[in-house]
Amino acid sequence: MDISVHALDPAKRHPKPKDEKNLVFGRVFSDHMLMMDFAKGKGWHNGRIVPYQLLEVAPAAMVLHYGQGIFEGLKAYRWPNGKICLFRPDQNWERFNRSAHRMCMPEIDTAFQMLAVEQLLKLDKDWVPHSVGSSLYIRPTMIATEPHLGVRPADDYLYFIITGPVAAYYAEGFNPVKIYVAEEYVRTVRGGLGEAKTMANYASSLYAAEIAKKKGFTQVLWLDAVERRYVDEVGTSNIFFRIGEELITPPLSGSILPGVTRNSVMDLAMHWGIKVTERQISIDEVIETAKSGEMKEIFATGTAAVISPVGEISYRDRMHRIADGKVGEWARNLYDEILGIQYGEREDIFGWVKHLDI
Ligand SMILES: *Cc1c(COP(=O)(O)O)cnc(C)c1O
Repeated sequence: MDISVHALDPAKRHPKPKDEKNLVFGRVFSDHMLMMDFAKGKGWHNGRIVPYQLLEVAPAAMVLHYGQGIFEGLKAYRWPNGKICLFRPDQNWERFNRSAHRMCMPEIDTAFQMLAVEQLLKLDKDWVPHSVGSSLYIRPTMIATEPHLGVRPADDYLYFIITGPVAAYYAEGFNPVKIYVAEEYVRTVRGGLGEAKTMANYASSLYAAEIAKKKGFTQVLWLDAVERRYVDEVGTSNIFFRIGEELITPPLSGSILPGVTRNSVMDLAMHWGIKVTERQISIDEVIETAKSGEMKEIFATGTAAVISPVGEISYRDRMHRIADGKVGEWARNLYDEILGIQYGEREDIFGWVKHLDI
């Protein structure tokens, strides 16, 4: 399918942010966006790149009432030689389709998703920041647009992609976070929507996150919703524990989002000869090993920050410091390696980097 291009008059294009280091995440958007429509019987059609603009949706659009909406998040990196690349984008296109399937929404051909981003970045490539660590965040999204009050999968959908420059996450070095174990509230449940990147999961995370913030914590540690015993995720990131010389992460049980960074961390650690185990880990084991000193590191993984070391955990009103609140060796090595691969400074032995011919 062709994508038509309606570019903004060059005189009307917006100035790029001057201070790349102080961009607030998710507030500045590039000049153009991509849109495509879906109608039952007709399929996907009218792929178009247009100036960044407000959407026109009916007040009865089903996404506004029943939450049928999914998204993805990935970044474009500018290498020192000027080339622009993506990190394992196929993983995002495939996950987008798995989310769509789970939410009874139409899938989009993965080659088309790739082409769409390529065409959009061709027009907005000057929006990809130049400093190492900063990048252009890409947000593909799909929403149900059919105007209809009544619960069932919609017949009409809108797919769109917006992008915006973001700063390096750790401009002043790693900053270990304090996390709060939520016992009263849960994010998702096995058999629920946790494995889909769908809007409802973020809505259900807000209340506990606000409580944690008021108490002075950065993130919530989510426990499984059935027994409130096993660790699921932290905030909107996956979680890893280093106990002794073993790296442990909860298995993809249905309530956990299968992160691209999670997968990359596991591959790298295994490649380095580290024993990596996917298994359930109880909050009791986390607290016991934190107390005994066997817990050497805890860190979260996700596209936005890559690696976020955890310095302290609050559980039932008691604080537990992890490895004296210092950044662990594995967290640092994984961060340096993944960032190095993303910016072309380290060898890409797994073939994760996708160069854009733009
Ligand atoms: C997006 C997301 C992650 C991280 O996935 P990445 O592909 O590594 O960015 C983890 N948990 C949740 C709930 C998420 O939404």
